Amino acid sequence: MTEELLSRRVYLGLGSNLGNRVARLVDALDALVAGGIQIDAVSALYETPPWGVTEQPSFLNAAASGETALPAAAILELAKHIEADAGRDFDAPRWTARPIDVDILLIEGETIATETLTVPHPLMHERGFVLIPLVDVAANVDHPGQRQTIGQLAGALPDSERTGVVEVEPAGWYPAAG
Ligand code: ADP
Ligand code: MG
Repeated sequence: MTEELLSRRVYLGLGSNLGNRVARLVDALDALVAGGIQIDAVSALYETPPWGVTEQPSFLNAAASGETALPAAAILELAKHIEADAGRDFDAPRWTARPIDVDILLIEGETIATETLTVPHPLMHERGFVLIPLVDVAANVDHPGQRQTIGQLAGALPDSERTGVVEVEPAGWYPAAG
């Protein structure tokens, strides 16, 4: 008998800092929908300074929420397919320029710690470029490890994580259903 997973909500973080960044984000969201995640809420679009390796173009970041019955490993596989299709060089050093980055931030009711997948995403609760977009679609959602809501975590960010994250396009730049 195959295991049937109930549909639950997943929250994704997206970022692009190479090429036509908006087109890469739109393509990624379309591909998530085509791959079986019913995206029904997408944040505003934010421009953020590069993180980690700072000599690279700035990022456009967004967060999205949707329902899916895909197992967590299949969601990660879908994310990696989307990154590969956009021409991401997986041999490039970590935190350097990439056409698209798709991260699994939260999965409703699940915490995961394997070699390839950690959910909630390990550093999301301290990064402005993740939390600020995520507030748009998940303000009242609990972070299971931090025992605070996304809105509370974002409100507690230091100025250094907050000031660089600038809204450049209100929600609606991607026409999510629902
Ligand atoms: P980052 O997103 O931190 O800039 P990468 O996108 O290069 O780094 O991801 C590196 C690896 O992180 C991926 O190959 C993936 O296996 C792993 N990973 C662990 N947890 C997650 C998660 N929640 N979402 C996406 N990737 C994850
Ligand atoms: Mg990633």
